[in-house]
Amino acid sequence: MRTALSRAVPLVAAVAAAVPAVPAGAADLGERTLEHGDRGDDVRELQDLLTDLDLRTDADGTFGADTVAHVKSYERREDLPVDGRVSPGQARGMQRRVADADDAFSPTDPVTSGPADPAPAAAGTYPVDGAHTYGDGFGDRGGHQGQDVMADCGLPLRAVNDVTVRRVATEAAAGRYIVLHDSDSGEDYVYMHMSAVDVAVGDTPRAGDKVGEVGQTGDATACHLHFEEWTAPGWYAGGHAKDPLAFLRSLGGS
Ligand SMILES: [Zn+2]
Repeated sequence: MRTALSRAVPLVAAVAAAVPAVPAGAADLGERTLEHGDRGDDVRELQDLLTDLDLRTDADGTFGADTVAHVKSYERREDLPVDGRVSPGQARGMQRRVADADDAFSPTDPVTSGPADPAPAAAGTYPVDGAHTYGDGFGDRGGHQGQDVMADCGLPLRAVNDVTVRRVATEAAAGRYIVLHDSDSGEDYVYMHMSAVDVAVGDTPRAGDKVGEVGQTGDATACHLHFEEWTAPGWYAGGHAKDPLAFLRSLGGS
């Protein structure tokens, strides 16, 4: 697995941004975390994006109070942590929003004005690679926080989206489990009862990459994946578990 670029970049960018001598305009949007006081072409790109997202912002290339306010409006609308800063992951999410050009957001804006992705992001990958059925659902047995996907032990488990591995651990009930963070949506995906884990904290698997195998570790009476979906900002970080069945079905699982 590759190293955690998405984690390292904001730190580097934050240090760079603190140095006043950094020349403006060298960066492309998504190469650094943008915040109040930053200048450059990437800030201008961000301001164009905000305007495309119906948050009209002067494209003056300076991250001023107006830009902060509009970034916060966007973050509130998208249920993201409201900090007025734009990480590379958040910038990608904004570009995707514009590329998707949901009419609800920009009724009059032509889709082609956005920085179009040549290949739209994958819709995601079903987490269990093989035959499966659904077991206990969200809320079953009083407070079940996820959806059980019954499948043979040893079947590959795949990352549902481009993610960063946030946690790899073993606990009595959960067994071997991983927490995957989607920096675009701010959501976390939790896989439990794994027999094998192929990733480490900080890894950045892409949608479809193998992250481990179906197992029966912890408190499980049959081989299955216990899958949880947590709203931004994620697992025990202020988000809450939601019923993941609609999300799983959207990934093509039966
Ligand atoms: Zn379960």
